[in-house]
Amino acid sequence: MIFSEYVIDEAEENKEIIRRYRKLRRLSRPYLKKGDSELILKAFKTAVEAHKNTRRKSGEPYIYHPIQVAIIAVEELNLGPTSVAAALLHDVVEDTEWELEDIKREFGAKVAKIVDGVTKIPSTEEMEFSQDTSQQAENFRKMLLALSDDARVIFIKLADRLHNMRTLSSMPRHKQLKIASESMYIYAPLAHRLGLYNIKSELEDLYLKYTQESVYREIARKLDRSRSQRNKFIKEFISPLEKSLADNGFKAEIFGRPKSIYSIWTKMRKQNISFEEIYDLFAIRIIIDTALEKEKADCWRVYSIVTDFYSPNIDRLRDWISTPRANGYESLHTTVMGPDGRWVEVQIRTQRMNEVAEKGYAAHWKYKELGRVMNGKSKESNLDSWLRLIRDLREQNSELPALEFVDDFRANFFSEEVFAFTPKGQLKTLPQGATALDFAFEIHSELGFHCLGAKINQKLVPLNHTLKNGDQVEIITSKKQKPNADWLKYVQTAKAKARIKEYIKTEMRQVMNKGKEILTRKLAQLKLELNNDTMNQLKIYFDLRQSADVLFNIGKGIIQPTQITKFKSWRNEKKLHVKPSNNPRDNKADDLEPSPKPKEKPKMDTLVIGDESDMVYSFARCCNPISGDDVFGFTTIGEGIKIHRTDCKNAPELMANYGYRIIKARWKSQQEQEFFLVELRIVGTDRIGLVRDVTKVISGDLKVNIAAIDIGVKKENIFEGNIKLYVKDASHLDLLKKKLYKIEGIISVERLDNV
Ligand code: MN
Repeated sequence: MIFSEYVIDEAEENKEIIRRYRKLRRLSRPYLKKGDSELILKAFKTAVEAHKNTRRKSGEPYIYHPIQVAIIAVEELNLGPTSVAAALLHDVVEDTEWELEDIKREFGAKVAKIVDGVTKIPSTEEMEFSQDTSQQAENFRKMLLALSDDARVIFIKLADRLHNMRTLSSMPRHKQLKIASESMYIYAPLAHRLGLYNIKSELEDLYLKYTQESVYREIARKLDRSRSQRNKFIKEFISPLEKSLADNGFKAEIFGRPKSIYSIWTKMRKQNISFEEIYDLFAIRIIIDTALEKEKADCWRVYSIVTDFYSPNIDRLRDWISTPRANGYESLHTTVMGPDGRWVEVQIRTQRMNEVAEKGYAAHWKYKELGRVMNGKSKESNLDSWLRLIRDLREQNSELPALEFVDDFRANFFSEEVFAFTPKGQLKTLPQGATALDFAFEIHSELGFHCLGAKINQKLVPLNHTLKNGDQVEIITSKKQKPNADWLKYVQTAKAKARIKEYIKTEMRQVMNKGKEILTRKLAQLKLELNNDTMNQLKIYFDLRQSADVLFNIGKGIIQPTQITKFKSWRNEKKLHVKPSNNPRDNKADDLEPSPKPKEKPKMDTLVIGDESDMVYSFARCCNPISGDDVFGFTTIGEGIKIHRTDCKNAPELMANYGYRIIKARWKSQQEQEFFLVELRIVGTDRIGLVRDVTKVISGDLKVNIAAIDIGVKKENIFEGNIKLYVKDASHLDLLKKKLYKIEGIISVERLDNV
C-alpha cells in the first residue's frame, strides 16, 4: 500500500505509541483500583500485538486508533478500567485473528461482552459492501439493538466514531460524505439523547466541516477575528460578578463559552440572518463548588447576585434544576441585559451539574461506579429505563421492515419526552409531540381502537391533541369508534402506529373479501367471469389503479351493483369482449390506462457526474439545486440520477442509508450554462413603491427574468410575496438576495426549497 504523504519511520512510531499509552495511563489513574493498571497494560500489549502489521488509511500504525478511542473514553467520558480495556481491544476481534473466546479467557466476561457489543455494530466499510438497501437498514437496526445491551457499548462506539470523524481527512471524498452523514443522522442525536454535549457538538461541527467546507471555514474565520473584541466584553461583564461572588463566600469558576460553529450556522439558516447579526455567540457560565444538599439554594443565590448587576429578561428564565431535562441536564439559565445594551445568556450550575451537562449519562455512570449517591431520585435509572424501552421496541417490532424501524427509533428515542398522568395519577412517559391517541394506545390497544377523544385537565379535546408535561389525561371511548388511515397522522409512538396499521390491514382484507364475493355473484348474473381481462376493464371503467381498490370499493358499497350492470353495457359498446390476444401478458386493456405523467426533462449539460461529462440526470424537487450549490448525485430506482444539494434536508438520511448510491457531482464551467428557476419568499413592511423597487432590482439592475410574482399584504402592513425567477448560479442568487435586503422595508428574503 502507498501512503502518499506519510513517511514510515518505525523507531519514531514506536516512541509515539509509548507516548500515547503513557497519556492514557496518566489520565485513567484517578479511576484505577488495585490490579486495574495491570489489566490496562495487558489490553494495550494485546492490541499492539494483534494490530502490529496493520495501518490506517492515513498510513499511521493502526494501534494509534484504539489508543485514541481509549483516551476519549477516559478524558471525555470518564469511563473506568473495564471500559478502557474494552476500548483498547474494540477492533481486535473484528480485524485480527483473535476470537471473542480469547478475550473472555484473558480479560474476563465483562470486557468480552462489551467488545462483542461494539463488534456487532457494523462498520461503515461493511455497510458499504452490502449493495442492497434493506441490508443497510438491517445493519442499522442491528447497531441500534446492540446498543441496548450495555450502556458502555454505546459510549465506546461513540468514542470510536468521534475518533474516526477527527481523522476523516485521509478518507476518499465519497466516504467522508457517508461517514459524516451517518454521524449526523444517528450518532449526534444519540450523543444528545445521552446528554453527551461535547461529543454531540464536536460531531456536528465535523459534519459541517466535511459536507460544507466553505461555510464552516467562513464561520470559523469570523469567530476567530471577533475573538479579542468578544474577550474584552466578557472580561468587563464578569469582573463585578467575580468580586461579588467571592465576597459572598462562593468558590466559583466564571467564563465565556462560545457557541459551536454548527449551532451558529443552524441559527443563521433558520432565522435567515448573517453572522454579524447573531448576538449570542457565547454564553457566560458560572460553575460553583458546593455541597450536594445546598446545590439548588446556592444556584438561586448566584442568580440573585447576577441580577443585582444586570436586569434579567423574565421570559427567558429556565429552571432545569427543579425539573431536569429528559437527558439529565440540570442548570439555571437566565438572559440579562449587558453593559452595552446587548442580551447575554448566563448559565448557573454546580460542578456536578456541569459534569452531567457535558458528559451526560456517562457522568452518571461514573457516579454509580464510584458509589456516590445522586441528588433525589436516581438519575442513572433514567438511562436504565431508556435502555429498557429500546429492548421493548425490539420485541414489539421484530416484524417491522428495517427502514421503518430506524425511523421509528429516531422518532421515539432521540426526541425529548413528555410526561402525562392517568386519572388515577399513574405516570406515563411518551415522546414529545405525542397525542391523546398515543396515550390511549400506551395504556391499552382496545382503549386506542375505540378512542373518541380525551378530557385533559377536565377539558374536552380531540384525539389528535398534543400532550404537554403534567397533563392529566382521561380517554373517552365509544364502542362504535374504530381506527382509520387518518389516525396514522395523529400518532407519534411506534406502538400506536403498529397497532393502527395492523387494524387497518385486517379490516381492509375483510372488506375486500366481501367485495370479491359481491363482484363474483354480480358478474355471474351478467354472464361474465372474474378474470384478469374483466378486472383490467373494471379498473379502467372505474378509474382505479389496482384490483384491490376495485374490490375494496365494492366491499365498502362505494361502487354499487347497479354500476356493475352499467359497466357491462359500456364493455359491450367498446366491444371489449372480443378477446384481443392469446398472450395473457399482452393485455389490450392495459393500453387504455392513462399514460403516466411525462417525466421531468432529463438534463446532461451542466454537471459532471462521477468522472463522466455526458451522464443524464435530473434535479431533485426537494431542494432544487442551482449551479454553484454544493451537490451530489443519488442513483434512484427508475428515475435515473437525481442531483441534491449537500444541505438538502434529505441528504443526511440518503447518505447514511444508501451510501453506495451516492455519486459525486460537480458543476461544469460557467460559460455555456443555462438559467435556473428558483423561488424566493420576500417579507417586508408595506409601503408605497416597494413592489416597484423589488422588481426594479430584479429585472433592472441584475437582468434577472421573473417567471411569476405573487405579492399580497398580509396584515398590519406586512406584505409577503413569492417570486419565481431565473438565475445563473448560486453566487448570482446571493448577489440578488443582498440587493433585495438593501431595499428599505425588506425584513427577510428566503430561498424556498421547492419550486
Ligand atoms: Mn474502531
